[in-house]
Amino acid sequence: MKRLSPNEFESKMPRREVVIDVVEFWANLTPRESHQDAVMADPEGGAPAKITANIASDEAANASGRVTIPPDANRHPDLRTACIPRLFPSPESVSYTPRCWMVLQSMADYQYDVVVVGAGPSGSMTARYAAAGGCRTLLIEKRQEIGSPVRCGEGLARHFVEDTKMPFDRKWVGREVKGAKIFSPNGTELTIEEAHAGNEVGIVLERDAFDKAVAKEAAKAGADIWLKTTATAILKDDGWVRGVRAKRLEEEMNLEAKCIVAADGYESQVGRWAGFKTLLRAGDITGTLQYRLTNISEGHDFPDYCEFWLGTCAPAGYIWVFPKDESTANVGIGVSLDRLKNRVDIKGYLDRWIAQDPRMAHAQPLDMVTGGVSTAPPIKKSVGNGIALVGDAARMIDPITGGGIGNGMLAGMILGKVLAKCNQTGDFSETALMEYEKGWRAKLEENLYRNWLAKNKLVTLSDREFDDIIQVLAEVGVHKLSVRAILKVLKDAKPELVAKFAEFI
Ligand SMILES: Cc1cc2nc3c(=O)[nH]c(=O)nc-3n(C[C@H](O)[C@H](O)[C@H](O)COP(=O)(O)OP(=O)(O)OC[C@H]3O[C@@H](n4cnc5c(N)ncnc54)[C@H](O)[C@@H]3O)c2cc1C
Repeated sequence: MKRLSPNEFESKMPRREVVIDVVEFWANLTPRESHQDAVMADPEGGAPAKITANIASDEAANASGRVTIPPDANRHPDLRTACIPRLFPSPESVSYTPRCWMVLQSMADYQYDVVVVGAGPSGSMTARYAAAGGCRTLLIEKRQEIGSPVRCGEGLARHFVEDTKMPFDRKWVGREVKGAKIFSPNGTELTIEEAHAGNEVGIVLERDAFDKAVAKEAAKAGADIWLKTTATAILKDDGWVRGVRAKRLEEEMNLEAKCIVAADGYESQVGRWAGFKTLLRAGDITGTLQYRLTNISEGHDFPDYCEFWLGTCAPAGYIWVFPKDESTANVGIGVSLDRLKNRVDIKGYLDRWIAQDPRMAHAQPLDMVTGGVSTAPPIKKSVGNGIALVGDAARMIDPITGGGIGNGMLAGMILGKVLAKCNQTGDFSETALMEYEKGWRAKLEENLYRNWLAKNKLVTLSDREFDDIIQVLAEVGVHKLSVRAILKVLKDAKPELVAKFAEFI
């Protein structure tokens, strides 16, 4: 008995109603309830079709062990959603009439066109555009609440909101800032107004509300969302990813899909299970710790700018102060893991810095989070047969700033649209998904790669060099917050300062 792959199945499936020439069959049912797609194949050469049935009650199944499926149950106007709401233990346990046989498509408990693992901004954005393009889409999230707890500085450039057509809502805006201030170790200040700050600043989000807002758009477009549902393994067959094994509360199940999207964040496992090389070297991982501090007083134009403090206060990283309201800010630190003897040292760096900032003299914490961000070069490959990686799972974080929300959303939008196209042709092969890979690379790759190279140089700068560079930039003025633009300004003003970066200019 040949098992059809989802693509073979879909290509043979008639899209309109099919009345199957079988009036009844019997199955030995287990009492365990589940959803099960089945394929009815005609040995005389007719097209196979999914069937649906209203099997009698659990009690009937338990009592007799044999249940008759009423004849009209073999008709379903929408074959794409047909299912038998019971799990058949194996194809052999299904008896059949002489004229037809029944092949279980698989032991899938649920079937979708697209299953997205992870309801962060990247996953929800992917689900939104896939669902809007006609894919039956399921978005699963292991946590019980989307967006919470927040593990983020919450800085986002306004243009990402516009680029991804996120309806603006003040509910997810913590604060709108005027721009960015960069401080050298001796306190020299470089101000870049928002209009020139590129990707880095604009809005300080209420990230828990924002993530829910992105997920809302996915739901509005037609995606199903399941919380407390963790992908635990990948289902592979014949070099294709066919789905994920998942645990929803206490229930284990197979979720089959024509494409699985790994949007499971920095600690992503889905990509790794599928064979993608997503391991990071210590120098490409930044450990972070952040307090939300309140009772902060004025100074350095707080709370109107996002601040970045450079130098040995945060080895091979930086300290950020992102204002949330008049007296509250996310105050965090990122330090490259290869500069830390012990991961807890990171707290010492941040606490010492806070202790010496007079604005923070009476500050008190409202929460504290830790986490990792990748500062790696762009991933070599983000698609395979029946799978795509997006967002932090695909290492799309900017290696200099550590910002990944915007890039992830942008890539999610591109991926969702490509998935919708794949669904129309029934082709979710690596080749078909390459359109996504090309799409995100065209938008993000050059910047990611350049910033990764530049980061590797930046981490070698001494405090003195930072002071000199910021001093010159503050005198000359910077009109665009991008590595290339800054280096160009420096080269014109003081070429000796940027000798290390000559290749980027
Ligand atoms: C301290 C800190 C500060 C940061 N500050 C900023 C900032 O200011 N600006 C910025 O742009 N970026 C910042 N970042 C990075 C930013 O948080 C990420 O780039 C962004 O969240 C990426 O979105 P994502 O959807 O790819 O992944 P995530 O937001 O991490 O979402 C992944 C989701 O997948 C879920 N998940 C994981 N595994 C499974 C599984 N097996 N099954 C089901 N669900 C699963 C997770 O619960 C999570 O909800 C910061 C990161 C840290 C740690």
